[in-house]
Amino acid sequence: MGSAAAAVENLVVIGSGPAGYTAALYAARANLSPLLITGYQDGGIPGGQLMTTTHVENFPGFPDGILGPELMDRMKSQAVRWGTRLIEADAETLDLSQRPYRIQVEGQTVLAHSVILATGASANRLHIDGEDTYWSRGISACAICDGATPQFRKAELAVVGGGDSACEEAVYLTKYGSHVHLIVRKDSLRASRAMADRVLANPQITVHWNRQVGGFGGDQWLEQLQLNGSDGKACETLAVKGLFYAIGHTPNTRLVKGQLELDAKGYLVIEGGSPNTSKEGVFAAGDVADDQWRQAITAAASGCQAALAAERWLSNNDLAVTISREEVEPKAAELPQPTTTATEADFSADALWQGGSYALRRLYHESTKPLLVTYTSPSCGPCHVFKPQLKRVLNELEGAAQGVEINLEDDPEIAAQAGVTGTPTVQLFYGKELKKQWRGVQQRSEVKQAIEALL
Ligand code: NDP
Repeated sequence: MGSAAAAVENLVVIGSGPAGYTAALYAARANLSPLLITGYQDGGIPGGQLMTTTHVENFPGFPDGILGPELMDRMKSQAVRWGTRLIEADAETLDLSQRPYRIQVEGQTVLAHSVILATGASANRLHIDGEDTYWSRGISACAICDGATPQFRKAELAVVGGGDSACEEAVYLTKYGSHVHLIVRKDSLRASRAMADRVLANPQITVHWNRQVGGFGGDQWLEQLQLNGSDGKACETLAVKGLFYAIGHTPNTRLVKGQLELDAKGYLVIEGGSPNTSKEGVFAAGDVADDQWRQAITAAASGCQAALAAERWLSNNDLAVTISREEVEPKAAELPQPTTTATEADFSADALWQGGSYALRRLYHESTKPLLVTYTSPSCGPCHVFKPQLKRVLNELEGAAQGVEINLEDDPEIAAQAGVTGTPTVQLFYGKELKKQWRGVQQRSEVKQAIEALL
């Protein structure tokens, strides 16, 4: 094959939830050397919706459950182990008007014979004041994922929405909460009759008709909901510790709008039961084409189907350029390792990245370099995403700056002193002065530029 043709990828997978990584795993094992564009901030964080959940207890193979971010780390490592190449950025544009297809990402144009769209769907939010403050501190987009966590046990809980999801979640939450309030904006449920009947017959559920969530209250954690009537005026207050959103999802189809057939709700239309979209060589997997099941396991299964379909299509069209492996058995998968806590005995004044309050104290007082202090917590998915990016920045700066990681569970008082209310929070110090602070996942370039400005 000539050099121009060699520059065309066999398969580009866009999206890094269970669908994307499973598709990449299958394609990699078929020696197609797939390229996976993980996404970064567009439509959620890399790893997808499981990155913002806690325990996943219904993914087969993990009898005691597994943290959502850990499950995604494992899927990622498995895909990479078999030869998936990653671009950890948002795909900016996708041009399906001619073949090979063209994807603009990180300032380069990637050409692809085939594409699997696994961009997922984002749970809708209400977008009202206070939502960000209480997000993951009482407000959740997924009762099935988060409902069983200790904070919600035997507490009064609320669900907003009137569809099948809202009803299913309200019933599900009665297993954990003491009582569930269902907040419905109309005087009827959109849910199927059977589901609605189940809700209406359950003495542990109170339906609040013609009510909208108007505001939140609570110290650190959600404690109160203000409900508005149909006239928009406040009319009721509920003392609840949890509010679960079930107000529908929006599929992440920005890249293909006007290019592929979408249904009335904006989901990708696929040929009955197959992963084929309305364009040849373009396949769909996971929630972007599924408004019904939306489970990690169904997304993973559809990723597998999409990869097999892509492999077949490439082969039928004589387009596949398979790699030959140097070693039959790939090396063992590499999983991210937790940062060890530095003690007096093993503290290093020059380490690029180390953990714990001892290292923070020493470096804060002694280091002459910019210091990145990253506050994390064990189940924080966005921390899994942001930490490697920060480490990459420090590596690129070749030791001109240093990093310390503080785990909120180990050092809660330090986090409290630093005014940290959520993870990840990153503080940039220089000469004992706080120069900049970031909350949540940011672009790597932004952190790098802020450090470079100090050097
Ligand atoms: P739906 O789109 O069916 O329902 C969304 C609900 O949220 C509606 O009741 C809607 O109200 C309400 N809503 C939307 N925006 C707001 C807002 N800003 N404030 C208050 N309420 C709002 O989504 P679902 O996730 O429930 O269901 C999606 C699909 O999945 C459906 O086809 C459903 O049947 C299916 N499903 C099936 C299940 C099963 O069979 N076991 C379980 C779960 C889902 P309104 O009615 O006023 O528009």
